[in-house]
Amino acid sequence: MSPTYQPRRYSPALLAELRAKYQAERDRRIRPEGTAQYRRAAGDLSAYAKDPYTRWAEREPVRDRVEATVIGGGFGGLVTGARLRQAGVESLRMVDEGGDFGGTWYWNRYPGVHCDIEATVYMPLLEEVGYVPKWRYAPGEEIRQHAVAIAKQFSLYDDTLFHTRVTGLTWNEDTADWTVQTDRGDEYRSRYVVISSGTLSQPKLPGIPGIDEFGGHTFHSSRWDHDYDLTGKRVAVVGTGASAIQIVPSIAPDVEQLYVFQRTPSTVDVRGNRPIDPEWAASLKPGWQRERMENFLTLVTGGHVDEDLIDDGWTATAKLQRQMLTGTVDENLTAEEREYLDELADARKMDEIRHRVAATVEDPATAEILKPWYRYMCKRPTFSDHYLESFNRPNVTLVDTADLGGITAMTPTGVKVGDQEFEVDCVIFATGFEVGISGVVSGTLPVHGRGGQPLLAHWAKGPRTLHGFYSHGFPNLFHLGSLQNAAAVNFTHVLQEQATHIGALVAAAAERGAQRIEPTAEAEQGWVDTIRATAPVTFDFQAECTPGYYNGEGKPRPVNNSFGPGPVVFHELLRTWRAEGGMDEVLRS
Ligand code: NDP
Repeated sequence: MSPTYQPRRYSPALLAELRAKYQAERDRRIRPEGTAQYRRAAGDLSAYAKDPYTRWAEREPVRDRVEATVIGGGFGGLVTGARLRQAGVESLRMVDEGGDFGGTWYWNRYPGVHCDIEATVYMPLLEEVGYVPKWRYAPGEEIRQHAVAIAKQFSLYDDTLFHTRVTGLTWNEDTADWTVQTDRGDEYRSRYVVISSGTLSQPKLPGIPGIDEFGGHTFHSSRWDHDYDLTGKRVAVVGTGASAIQIVPSIAPDVEQLYVFQRTPSTVDVRGNRPIDPEWAASLKPGWQRERMENFLTLVTGGHVDEDLIDDGWTATAKLQRQMLTGTVDENLTAEEREYLDELADARKMDEIRHRVAATVEDPATAEILKPWYRYMCKRPTFSDHYLESFNRPNVTLVDTADLGGITAMTPTGVKVGDQEFEVDCVIFATGFEVGISGVVSGTLPVHGRGGQPLLAHWAKGPRTLHGFYSHGFPNLFHLGSLQNAAAVNFTHVLQEQATHIGALVAAAAERGAQRIEPTAEAEQGWVDTIRATAPVTFDFQAECTPGYYNGEGKPRPVNNSFGPGPVVFHELLRTWRAEGGMDEVLRS
């Protein structure tokens, strides 16, 4: 931060002025089509979804029976696989659409890919695998290798179906197991099925004319073509979200000309990445990772700790994250007082972010376009010490597309914004991912439970689960993710608690000879009521936000489905439930 920066004093009138500016910037960007503006990377655009990293191999369909199936080989699936092994499950099958483990880190291999959550809290099972990350914010490849290490350590490669999508799950009451069908012709039985298929995995593209007519080279950021040499090429990067922030500075030195097509600028805060000190690593005592994870989670969800062990851009903005994620609130304040203080803190943070742009970017007109005008948590915050600097290079041009709703067309030779055409050799779409809670919710994975009942029919008025994991009428089927439980920015932490819970349930079922794990209708209703009573009210905040995937492109869903008191309370609630006989309610013969 430049030494001349002085925080601005905000009177109520000045805050109102800022609010009006945010509203105007939002209105410029609202598109009536909402999420329908995008196209799936499917059909004639399916090349954008193809796996460029692992060769697709023919195989015979499987027709057997296993004890457990885990759908998804990202960290959620991997930690569940690990906990199921520890629960004594020998016959375990992992299924993933990718060609190897890693989930998002399998797919996202673009130049510069890093995790922006500190590696010591983000990378799961570090102590169990015996690994200390090399960098504070780890490169994607280090994280992917760690996913592979977890899979090896817990023998998760023993029975995998990679490049395979599960297309149907049907419960068999007589044999108390599921029939699993896939797009590779598999049809086999599995006593347990765990769905951990992620929320941001299917690439999406602008639904613009000519997208399939471009004659140059093109790909999506999550399917990087490392065989294509960008050196000396004219390149377009479409999008300026968390992925593009990392891509732009990594490729700018190599390309001849880089056009960055921006619709909404991201907030770009200080990164400060550095190698992890080996002496510090050697000094760590058993339990160190859990301690750091709990400390981080407590802080970023509004709780108090004596010492901030992570002390970075996330912990510094913890109070602002409450606007989007659940967490505890200061009960000594009224809702109005909280909102006023939040808005004030938000304005100061955003001023600081905007000041950083002005202090870094030399061309004042470019700097103006790069300044974000919205509340901090309206979009995923980003962190970089190189992105803004890229716009000082003579070969990097920022193209503002806000008033036209993004790039408007593609031609055989380039990208169009209104009447202006930019001729390029390569177009890289850093345009993000479809937001699906899972294939179960989006309908791409039909599930039929007891009596052939479709899960989506059971959930017709909204999801119905106990603790977010399982539903009445759908025994031995578990969901991982953010549905009806408590999420946080360090999502791998949340997934680990979920995996531990599932592992404990499966171990208890084996010990007691139970065939089914299933909540009663009453227990399920009880949890639905709890969610309704406690769900945080984020609708008003989101409705005023600039459009993006956080708020359904400007059309937020009125119902929030998460546990209001936040993940720290939720995890404690699960531990207490397990310790105080909760299993008795759900284990059946
Ligand atoms: P995002 O959805 O965040 O960003 C997509 C970008 O494409 C936005 O800037 C969007 O603009 C822009 N865009 C969409 N359509 C058009 C169009 N027609 N013309 C021009 N621009 C367009 O995707 P990302 O891949 O960047 O990130 C997705 C998520 O992945 C992140 O939010 C984060 O959760 C995760 N991630 C995490 C990282 C980590 O370190 N942990 C790193 C990278 C990603 P607009 O904003 O106006 O919609």
